[in-house]
Amino acid sequence: MSLEQVYDPESFRELGHQIVDQLADYLKDAKDGTNIPVVEWHDPEDNLKYWSEYKLENALSLFDDIIARSMHVHHKTFMGHQVAPASPLSALAGLVSSIMSNGMAVYEMGPSSSAIEKVVTTKLARAMGYTDQSDGFLTSGGTLANLTALLTARSKIADLDVWNQGHENQKLAVMVSSEAHYCIDRAARIMGLGSEGILKIPVNGSFQMRTETLEDELVKASKGGLKVFAIIGSACTTSTGSYDNLNEIADFAEKHGLWLHVDGAHGAAAALTTRFRHLVDGIERADSITLDCHKMLMTPSVTTALLFKNGRDSYQTFHQRAEYLWEDGNEEWFNLGKRTFECTKLMMSIKFFCLERVYGIEIFDEYVSRQYELARQFAELISSRRQFHLGPQPESNIVCFRLVHSDQNEEENNHLNSSIRERLLRKGDFYIVQTKLGGQVFLRTTLMNPFTTVDDLGNLLDEIEVLAQEPA
Ligand SMILES: *Cc1c(COP(=O)(O)O)cnc(C)c1O
Repeated sequence: MSLEQVYDPESFRELGHQIVDQLADYLKDAKDGTNIPVVEWHDPEDNLKYWSEYKLENALSLFDDIIARSMHVHHKTFMGHQVAPASPLSALAGLVSSIMSNGMAVYEMGPSSSAIEKVVTTKLARAMGYTDQSDGFLTSGGTLANLTALLTARSKIADLDVWNQGHENQKLAVMVSSEAHYCIDRAARIMGLGSEGILKIPVNGSFQMRTETLEDELVKASKGGLKVFAIIGSACTTSTGSYDNLNEIADFAEKHGLWLHVDGAHGAAAALTTRFRHLVDGIERADSITLDCHKMLMTPSVTTALLFKNGRDSYQTFHQRAEYLWEDGNEEWFNLGKRTFECTKLMMSIKFFCLERVYGIEIFDEYVSRQYELARQFAELISSRRQFHLGPQPESNIVCFRLVHSDQNEEENNHLNSSIRERLLRKGDFYIVQTKLGGQVFLRTTLMNPFTTVDDLGNLLDEIEVLAQEPA
């Protein structure tokens, strides 16, 4: 094989058409949900063996095998983790990004996609209710966006110049609900705050931060020598999809001069709807917001916006010189690597931009509202079935529930639900996950697919009832 062949445009053209056909067939099968399972389960060791010993026929059959043995996120019974079924148009934008491969750290290495990024983040910032003071950028995932936001918060709020001087002897801390995504905890530890520097605020029965405890927690922290610099609201939480009361958190943050970051990786998308906008009331008061487009805005993984109320703050995160890349000092929106953690990143802006331009921004309202609505219908269905217990009333498209055998104890019911979930995975008719709430194992669904119906959800409950009768 020669390099000439590797880069041959005509081979690409031919194979490309075939692969698009192959993927279109996959999309059709997944949408019908009949010809292929949501997942063809293989244990990790089996898959490792399969791929280690893989005998290549040709590139097309290789992709066929990869598609067959992957999680089918477009399948209408995919309702596990919070990953969007990538809309075909934005997936094609991903192909363009892969071929053009503009690295994005400096304007020259992404002239169009950098300008488009500005357009996209401005649009999203407006949807959040921010003014034209705001600004932001795209980055590789909610985890990285949250870390970046907390670094900005520390740089803005802490008296200490940690970037240059280290922590010296001051102990910094952040406040966050005990239900927040684990990446907040990880970010705080990366920043050297230690366990002590992560103040986990308890939640109420609806899994929202108990804001009435904040004053006491802050006094306790100060007495313990901690300097709190930021508070993080969840919009929504990952386990149960619960929205914190952002206005109450914002009142507290304003009163004490704390940075308010809203982790809206999953649920900030509600701001783009009419019907569910109220869930994020107060989000416009946040100093920064994380929003994953690859969760509720139909783009492929990963496409994340980090938005700042005061756009100038975003230039303060990394006080680091890289003079070979850019002239020092000026705040240029177009050299994105000044503000992002990454140096090279994907041309992710085009994945959102094409959807917004081709279908209009209303398409996101249609998608998010449908999925949130479906969750409410599913909750009613669960409540109407004798053997099922609903977790918290769903606020987003995340629904937790469990099957309970009333003659069995807690431990047995936990085991029953875990075993149901495990058997569902191996069977491949439905993909759901599980979570633990107050010591109880719950089955957890995130209704991501725009073609999943209430009937499909009824079938899921039927199948769970059957599994519950079989020996585990
Ligand atoms: C998914 C999620 C994250 C992590 O985002 P990634 O894009 O997976 O890195 C963080 N916070 C919340 C609330 C989430 O739902």
